[in-house]
Amino acid sequence: MTLVSTNERGIIYKIARYALHDGPGIRTTVFLKGCPLRCLWCCSPESQSGEPELAKREELCLTCSVCTGEPETCPGGALERIGREVTAQALLKEVERDRPFWRRSGGGVTLSGGEPLFQPQFVKEFLQRCRERHIHTAIESSLFCKRELLEELMDLVDYFQFDLKAMDREQHLRLTGLDNRVILDNAATLLRSAKSLLTRIPLVPGCNDGEPNLRKLGAFLERHRPGAFLEILPYHRMGVGRYEELGRAYPLPDTLPPTKEEMERALKILREYPIRVINEGGR
Ligand code: SF4
Ligand code: SF4
Repeated sequence: MTLVSTNERGIIYKIARYALHDGPGIRTTVFLKGCPLRCLWCCSPESQSGEPELAKREELCLTCSVCTGEPETCPGGALERIGREVTAQALLKEVERDRPFWRRSGGGVTLSGGEPLFQPQFVKEFLQRCRERHIHTAIESSLFCKRELLEELMDLVDYFQFDLKAMDREQHLRLTGLDNRVILDNAATLLRSAKSLLTRIPLVPGCNDGEPNLRKLGAFLERHRPGAFLEILPYHRMGVGRYEELGRAYPLPDTLPPTKEEMERALKILREYPIRVINEGGR
């Protein structure tokens, strides 16, 4: 891997410090903008567009007569700009302030989104810089990317987290807007490698919680990495307000989080396979 001499720019929308569920130890998680998927349950619609955008909280709006539409001049604090441009070098400097926490906990940096691989040059350069500084790196990805990019990342990323949302191609297309061939190929490659990783499924009632999908998922993990960890993330509605602020309709208005019984049923099915199934946060 050649050393970087460029200074790629990327668009991020949030940095979460002291994150405990985005990889080993205490992590600094950087959220990148842009995602090619459109999952019906997505709780971060502000991450989907690759461009900066404005969100507006109507309840704070004072309906001024002269509205510039700029957060800087909004007296009610109703407007928020989501997304800012940053260079890989500047981002590294920003996150490295957390090095003492990483060292004590065995943590590091996690790239999330959105889909971090939507900005491949920026991500590669940032990860290379992390390598040079001996920072532990993790990525949360849909794995919707070219095989060559995944192979490059396997040298640059210490820990992968990825969701397998639906195993059937048509169902995946219906639920996320894209078919899953590339995702399953990449997932199989990763699972068969020696990389540290965590597979997850967002469990969304009426969308992907049917027995056939759960059994296909269990069998896929058994085939490619017996003993693999699988985390179940129960669907939640915390993103609803964000859709309103962006002036967009929530795609699943009537869907409720899984009940205790629905969670137990899914766990029971998946635990029939030789994999290690855990509840969200239970690792
Ligand atoms: S400036 Fe802010 S508070 Fe005033 S109308 Fe515009 S969004 Fe509303
Ligand atoms: S992959 Fe993640 S960020 Fe992209 S639409 Fe789906 S839930 Fe949202």
